[in-house]
Amino acid sequence: MSTSKNNNPKCCICSKFIKKVPGVPKHIKSDEDAAEFSTIFDCPIIVVDMLGPYYANLNDAAIMKEIIDSPDGICNLLEPGDVFVVDRGFRDVQAHLEDKGYQVLMPALKGKRNQLMTTESNASRYVTKIRWVVEAVHGMLKQKYHLLDQKFDNKMLPRVGSFYRIASFLHNQYNKRLSSDAEYFDEIVEMMESRNNTDNTLAEEFVKDQTNVLKAQVQSRHIGRKVYRCFIEYKPDTIGWSGILRYCCECANGLRTIGCCSHVAAIIFYLAHARYLAKIPRPAEILNSLFNKDNITTVIDEDSEED
Ligand SMILES: [Zn+2]
Ligand SMILES: [Zn+2]
Repeated sequence: MSTSKNNNPKCCICSKFIKKVPGVPKHIKSDEDAAEFSTIFDCPIIVVDMLGPYYANLNDAAIMKEIIDSPDGICNLLEPGDVFVVDRGFRDVQAHLEDKGYQVLMPALKGKRNQLMTTESNASRYVTKIRWVVEAVHGMLKQKYHLLDQKFDNKMLPRVGSFYRIASFLHNQYNKRLSSDAEYFDEIVEMMESRNNTDNTLAEEFVKDQTNVLKAQVQSRHIGRKVYRCFIEYKPDTIGWSGILRYCCECANGLRTIGCCSHVAAIIFYLAHARYLAKIPRPAEILNSLFNKDNITTVIDEDSEED
């Protein structure tokens, strides 16, 4: 087979699955006793392999290097030109993969800057649009196979690799293939491509006196003191996303023009949709009232959809 040109590159989505195991040997330095697994996915989204366990003091990049350099491993299925879709944890292995002729897609690194540039943030969106499945499948495996989610009895450790592989096999065999936006696929691809080279012009303007520009502040979920200002320019009395003209936000991905950051999305979701609902579904709502004494007698809410 010619390796000079790869007309049909395979797409390898890689991620790490962390599992807590009490009492692993002492020479493994880690703040939590964890065994790490590396998953490799292929399109159309099957788990090709689940490798591990690895020492918890190896980072994603070190594990990946070991996997890719193993002579009877995944490299036998790959050709130069194949694409690795990884997250930032794999950044130290990027050069090594590229030396071997593979393409590497990775979200941009922000470093010490406050924000990514529009082009970087857009490129990152291309990566996450493909990569979300690997995290989704990990979630499905944990939900379905409780053994993989709970703390392991360390006596089971010698067999843990097999358990993961069996679960992955069952997942490939019996679960639906994940895909997003199936109905709007062409529309979304077209929109992503058309907006790829669009600058975020709203961010460059002073929006103080403009009409039809909504200003809102959103509290950062990760940094307590931080508040992001968001600006959304809209066309009144419209239906559908064409009514959202431009937007920007002060957060890391706030200049993105392919899609938007989570803050802008949350504001649009609330104002255009959620506030007209009888009840706004809140993820993990139960956690908010866990330590609230008034709520200790549990009564099933009549509106609850969970019963
Ligand atoms: Zn002891
Ligand atoms: Zn934002």
